[in-house]
Amino acid sequence: MTAEYAIALAATKQRVVEAARGIGRDPADVTLIAVSKTFGAEDIRPVLAAGQRHFGENRVQEALGKWPELREGYSDLTLHLIGPLQSNKAKEAVALFNVIHTVDRAKIARVLSAEMDKQGKRLQLFIQVNTGGEEQKAGVAPGELDALLALCRGELGLEISGLMCIPPVDEAAAIHFAFLAKLAKERSLAGLSMGMSSDFTAAVELGATHVRVGSAIFGARG
Ligand SMILES: *Cc1c(COP(=O)(O)O)cnc(C)c1O
Repeated sequence: MTAEYAIALAATKQRVVEAARGIGRDPADVTLIAVSKTFGAEDIRPVLAAGQRHFGENRVQEALGKWPELREGYSDLTLHLIGPLQSNKAKEAVALFNVIHTVDRAKIARVLSAEMDKQGKRLQLFIQVNTGGEEQKAGVAPGELDALLALCRGELGLEISGLMCIPPVDEAAAIHFAFLAKLAKERSLAGLSMGMSSDFTAAVELGATHVRVGSAIFGARG
């Protein structure tokens, strides 16, 4: 299995590099996040051994069960929370993660700000935008983005690195990536967290700075 993970990781990196070069971007401006949700230490270790240092998890509880031990010996590891965050998990999230991609409402922004102050830690933050206007989906509505951004940058003194989206499954992802890129550009936000296994090359072409790739590296989730 070890070799297979290394090969899948290398192939994914290569696709990122080619997509970036293809439109004249510097591949170094794109961070590949290996999404290890549902996979255990035995699957993650070979990917760590292959040199990967950015990992994404979508549940705080699950991440707590494996990362404190896994990250020992990897002081340069960056852990990204890419799933919804509940206020009652903010303390653990701030303690464990380096980057949170899913700030999407005033309440969680306030709780995160207070918790980061308490722990004396500054995480990198992205605001998740519900670009498809889906009722069930997390993310701030595009029309409410400016109010949330103003709260973060103003009263809370939080630095926001960029925007994140998860396009609706039944729509062309590129339209959502282009929309997110436009929203970010208009607000002078440099970071764009977008693109998964099925569409990360399109995301890179449309300006992604962070792509979140799970199954293309780890295989199908059980
Ligand atoms: C699971 C997940 C991914 C990775 O999905 P793949 O299709 O396996 O690449 C990316 N982003 C988020 C928010 C996820 O939950």
